[in-house]
Amino acid sequence: MKTLLGVAAAAGAAFALGFASMSLADDPTPHFAPWGFDLAGRDTTVAPGADFYDYANGTYVKNLVIPPDRSRYGNFDALSALSEDRVHTILERAAHDPAARGDEAKIGDYYRAFMDEDRINALGAAPLAPFLPEIRAARTPAAIAQLMGKANATFFHTFIGSDVQVDAKDPTHYAVYLGQDGLGLPDRDYYLEPAFAAKKAKYQAYVAQMLTLANWPDAEAEAKAIVDIETQIAQASWTLAQDRDPTKTYNPMTPAELAAASPGFDWTAYLNAAGLGSATRVVVSENTALPKIAAIFAQTPIKDLQAWEAFGVVDSAAPFLSKPFVDAAFEFRNKTLSGQAEQRPRWKRAVSAVNRAMGEAVGQVYVAAYFPPEAKATMEALVANIRASLVARIQRVTWMTDATKQRALQKLAQLTVKIGYPSKWRDYSALRIDDDLIGDVNRAAAFEWRRRLNHLGQPVDRTEWGMTPQTVNAYYNPTQNEIVFPAAILQPPFFDPAADMAVNYGGIGGVIGHEMTHGFDDEGRHFDGTGALADWWTPADDAKFVVQTTRLGAQYSAVEPIAGTHIKGDQTMGENIADLGGLLLGLDAYHMSLAGKPAPVLDGLSGDQRVFLGWAQVWRGAIRPDALRQQLVSDPHSPETARVNQVVRNVDGWYAAWNIQPGDPLYIAPDQRVRIW
Ligand SMILES: [Zn+2]
Repeated sequence: MKTLLGVAAAAGAAFALGFASMSLADDPTPHFAPWGFDLAGRDTTVAPGADFYDYANGTYVKNLVIPPDRSRYGNFDALSALSEDRVHTILERAAHDPAARGDEAKIGDYYRAFMDEDRINALGAAPLAPFLPEIRAARTPAAIAQLMGKANATFFHTFIGSDVQVDAKDPTHYAVYLGQDGLGLPDRDYYLEPAFAAKKAKYQAYVAQMLTLANWPDAEAEAKAIVDIETQIAQASWTLAQDRDPTKTYNPMTPAELAAASPGFDWTAYLNAAGLGSATRVVVSENTALPKIAAIFAQTPIKDLQAWEAFGVVDSAAPFLSKPFVDAAFEFRNKTLSGQAEQRPRWKRAVSAVNRAMGEAVGQVYVAAYFPPEAKATMEALVANIRASLVARIQRVTWMTDATKQRALQKLAQLTVKIGYPSKWRDYSALRIDDDLIGDVNRAAAFEWRRRLNHLGQPVDRTEWGMTPQTVNAYYNPTQNEIVFPAAILQPPFFDPAADMAVNYGGIGGVIGHEMTHGFDDEGRHFDGTGALADWWTPADDAKFVVQTTRLGAQYSAVEPIAGTHIKGDQTMGENIADLGGLLLGLDAYHMSLAGKPAPVLDGLSGDQRVFLGWAQVWRGAIRPDALRQQLVSDPHSPETARVNQVVRNVDGWYAAWNIQPGDPLYIAPDQRVRIW
C-alpha cells in the first residue's frame, strides 16, 4: 500500500560507538566535484534535447561496469552500498564485542549465526527437518489450508496472502486484509507471456532441483505439476496495474461471506492457523480472483499441494541452508532472473538478513553513529519549501474547480512528515536469537507476524515506520497521509549540504516533491487528509484529471526499453505522476529560495540547468537486461532513463533552460505536454 521512491526495506545513546560521525557543517567539499554535480560524467556530444539522460549521464554510464554481484548499479546503488558497509561495521562490532547487551547482542548473534558457514554446510538439509514432516502429515485439504494459514510466521507458502494493515476506510483502526498469492516467479507475466517462456522452463528445472535436494519424491513430475498450478493461479490473478486501484481492491465482507463466495478452500482452518480466527470482518483485495484460486486449490491433488508446499519451504529457506541450496537459489533467482553474474559476498547477504529481521535494532545504532542531527532541521526547511510550492501549484491549476481545490489544499495541510528515524523504537525483547540460523529466521518471522496480529483491536500507532533508517529510499503512506524519509537517503547524490542548492533542489527537492505528489497521484488522490479512502473529487474534476493521466500513460507506453517490450503506462502511472510533480516542485522551490535574487552561474550552467542536472544525477546508472525485463513487468517504477527523459519533456522550464526547439527528439508541443499539478 505504501508508495516508494525507488526499486525496487537497544538504546542509542547507551552505545558509545567510536564511529566518526558525518558532519554537515564542517565539510565544505561536495561529494561530487566541483559543486555537487559530476560534470565529467556528462556526454556533451549528445544534445540535451535529443536524450537528456545521456547528455547528463552518458560518459559515466559508458564507463560503468556493473559489479559482478549486482544486477544494477548507479548513484542510488552506490549510496545503498555505503549503508551496507556501515551496517557491516555495526554488525561486526556487535558480533565480537563481549560487552554487547540487549538488542545489540541479538543483532550480533544473528549476524554470527549467518556467517558461520562451516556449521551451516555441515548441517546440510537437516534444518528443514521441522517442516517437511509437517507437510507429509498434511493429508487433507483442511490440513494444507492450515499450513497456508501459517505462512506469515513460518517458511510455508500460501495461495492466499493475509496481512493486518490500517483500514483504508477507517484509518484509526486496523483491518485484516486478504489477497491473491502463490506465485514463485516475479509476476504473472512470467507464466503467461511468450517472452518469458525460457525463464519459465528454467523455473521448472529449478523446482525439480530443489525438490531433489530436499529428497522429495517424484521431483521431475511434481515440478511440472507445480508450474502448472502456478500458471493457473497466474491466469486467475489480477495484474499489478489492477492492484493499484484502491477502490476496487477494497471489498469488506464477513468470513462467512468470503467462504460462500469462494468455495473449495477451508477458510476457517486457514484463518484459525493464521491467528485470525476471531476476525468478524476481512477486506479482500482481488475479489474476483479469490474464488478462482479457491477452485484451483479444490481441484489440485493433495500430493501436488504437498509438493508445492515442500518446494516453497525449500525455496524460502535456501539462502540460510548449506552451499548446494544457496548455489541453486543464486543460479535461478539472481543469475537467470536478474542477470547477476556472481553471488554477493556472504557478509552482504548477512547484512540483508539482519536488516530484514531486526531492522530497527540495527537502525538505532546506525542513527547514533551516522545521522547528524542537523540534517533533520535542514530537511524540515526543505520540506516546508516544497509544501509551499505545491500549495501555490494547486492554487494555480486551471482545470480544477474551487471546491475540489479547497479539499486538495486541506489534504496537503494535513500531510505529516517523518525524517530520519522513528520517535519510538521497536521492542525486540520477545525475540530469541541463537546460533540456529533457520530457527532465527523463523522466529523473526513469527515475531513480526505476532506484532501485526497484536494491532487488531488497538488504535493505529502513528509512530510506526515502514522502512528502517538505514534504507536508501522514501515513501508516501496514503492511509496515514504521511511522507517518510529514512536517514540514509539524506546523503549525496540526493542531499549534500556542501553542494550548490540548485543541485539539491533537483535531488532531494525532487524526492520530497515526488513523495508529496503521491498524495495526489491516480491512487493517492482517492484518500483524504485523514488517510481515509473517501473520494473528495467532483465528477468534472475527476474527468479532467483522467484526461491528463491518460495522455501521460500513452507517452510512457510508447517507450520501448527492450525491443518488443514497452513500459506499462498504467502500472507505472503513480510513479510517473510523482516524478513529474517532484521535478516541477523542486524547480519551483529553488526559485522561491532565491527570493528574487538572480541565480549564480557555475561552470557556464544556469541555476535552472543545475536543477535538471541534479534530478538526472540521482537516476544515473545501468541495469542488466534481465533485471530490466523484470522491472518492466513487476515494478511500478519506470526505468531510470524514462525517469529523466519522459519527465523533463513535460516541464516548460526545461525547454527554456536548455533552449529546446521543435525538431529536437524530446520536444513535445506545449499543448500536448501533460500538466497535472
Ligand atoms: Zn514513488
